[in-house]
Amino acid sequence: YATTHEADIVVIGSGPGGYVAAIKAAQLGMKTVSVEKDSTLGGTCLNVGCIPSKALLHNTHLYHQAKHDFAHRGIETGPVNFNFSKMMEYKVNAVKALTGGIGMLFKKNKVTLVRGVGTIINPKKVEVKGEKGVETINTKNILIATGSEVTPFPGVTFDEQQIITSTGALSLKSVPKKMLVIGAGVIGLELGSVYQRLGADVTAIEFLGTIGGVGIDGEVAKTLHKILSKQGMKFKLNTKVTSVKKEGGIVKVEVEPSKGGGAKEALDCDVVLISIGRRPYTTDLGLKNVGIALDDRGRVPVNNKFQTTVPGIYAIGDCIHGPMLAHKAEDEGIVCVEGIKGMPVHFNYDAIPSVIYTTPEVGWVGKSEEDLKKEGKAYKVGKFPYLANSRAKTNGEPDGFVKVLSDKATDVILGTHIIGPGGGELINEAVLAQEYGAAAEDVARVCHAHPTCAEALREANLAAYCGKPINF
Ligand code: FAD
Ligand code: NAD
Repeated sequence: YATTHEADIVVIGSGPGGYVAAIKAAQLGMKTVSVEKDSTLGGTCLNVGCIPSKALLHNTHLYHQAKHDFAHRGIETGPVNFNFSKMMEYKVNAVKALTGGIGMLFKKNKVTLVRGVGTIINPKKVEVKGEKGVETINTKNILIATGSEVTPFPGVTFDEQQIITSTGALSLKSVPKKMLVIGAGVIGLELGSVYQRLGADVTAIEFLGTIGGVGIDGEVAKTLHKILSKQGMKFKLNTKVTSVKKEGGIVKVEVEPSKGGGAKEALDCDVVLISIGRRPYTTDLGLKNVGIALDDRGRVPVNNKFQTTVPGIYAIGDCIHGPMLAHKAEDEGIVCVEGIKGMPVHFNYDAIPSVIYTTPEVGWVGKSEEDLKKEGKAYKVGKFPYLANSRAKTNGEPDGFVKVLSDKATDVILGTHIIGPGGGELINEAVLAQEYGAAAEDVARVCHAHPTCAEALREANLAAYCGKPINF
């Protein structure tokens, strides 16, 4: 069995970076082939990342609210229980609907899908080994969008039942009684929240002194730590894990202070989730065949047009530099293929939002206070608490604040940090402002609907530009 295809561009990988790039390329008139090794489209994000985690976060939040929050709002329900397998089934259906949707978008946009592992043979040829045999694609351009995989933990084998990655955590058969999470970054906090809401006793062990991973503003991280602790999640900060072992049905995790020197401690649990980061995935891609060398962190090196060192071969998403986020991969994919068509390529890494989908949500864009201090930049701070926002207060969700950091001399916004209701949605307004180079005064003078949580963003900008909010 052998089939040969002719293409203008082959996109290897159908995650949010690859599938969006393939559709855009086809829309721009390129004969486009998408190559995917997995049985479903959508990559990490749709299958074992953003989408299933958000399905579980949303439904466990609703459950938690019904159980612990409805009564004082005058909503009577009788006993509230959860059906874990039904929750998982809901998640599976959410994923199915979206991964299936990509197949339809491919048909609509005339993207040819070739299933199997894609290997670059030379800059004009990709071979795909699939169930049907080997297919060959002759092409003018190649776009690498092969994403990332879980960073392994030295000496630990994942069984995905008791010693699990995020993928195992999205498919457990039952709620563990006791769960340890190694790494209190985005995955640890989101998936830790899911099981904590369902009644698990969750402790997150974090090497650093703060939670939330890279880029989070220190004050936001402290507030999140306080709020999640109040919800019942436990934390062991400044702590490193020295071993993880299964012993007679339980998992034993040994920890000691990060700096060393202190006493060792052994912790038992039913399930340990290891979430210490992800690393680029380029296995079987054939980079050696074309002489592309990975950088010191296993990433495919590209210039600001997403060109690798080999003409005609490009790369985007989790397998290159920058934050490992779906929207970053998508946007890189779009400008990269526009660039292949001779259009301009601009990508502003200072205006990529980050969101942690806990309750409350955390959202940020641009510089943190720590970043600005390090840079020695003179800045102003405008802060507004949700406690003083009429909508948040009325809804009974007063925890958190919005903080805007702007240039002391010009008032131009340098960063926005939100922890509070709808923070993951509201951050997009701050991204728009930052992308357009707005000053804090610009946002403060824009009419905002009342009563909305977005007014907290406006007031924080007002505080940044003239020092005085109205309602606080
Ligand atoms: P991927 O999504 O990893 O896709 C790469 C694809 O390439 C895969 O389908 C893979 O099978 C395929 N592939 C690889 N090599 C080959 C080959 N040789 N031949 C054929 N196919 C190949 N990001 C967010 O922005 N928001 C979130 O809420 C969020 N939540 C997450 C939750 C979890 C639990 C995890 C693990 C990640 C989450 N992320 C989130 C990160 C997000 O999933 C990634 O940033 C995103 O998927 C990267 O997209 P990508 O297209 O670069 O790669
Ligand atoms: P992360 O980088 O967010 O967090 C890892 C955490 O583990 C860090 O706080 C780090 O200090 C800690 N750590 C590292 N080694 C450790 C050790 N040996 N012991 C204890 N702690 C240790 O990584 P993640 O949470 O695994 O997520 C992976 C990627 O997936 C991230 O890049 C993230 O951007 C992406 N993701 C994004 C979202 C979202 O956007 N909402 C959700 C999930 C995942």
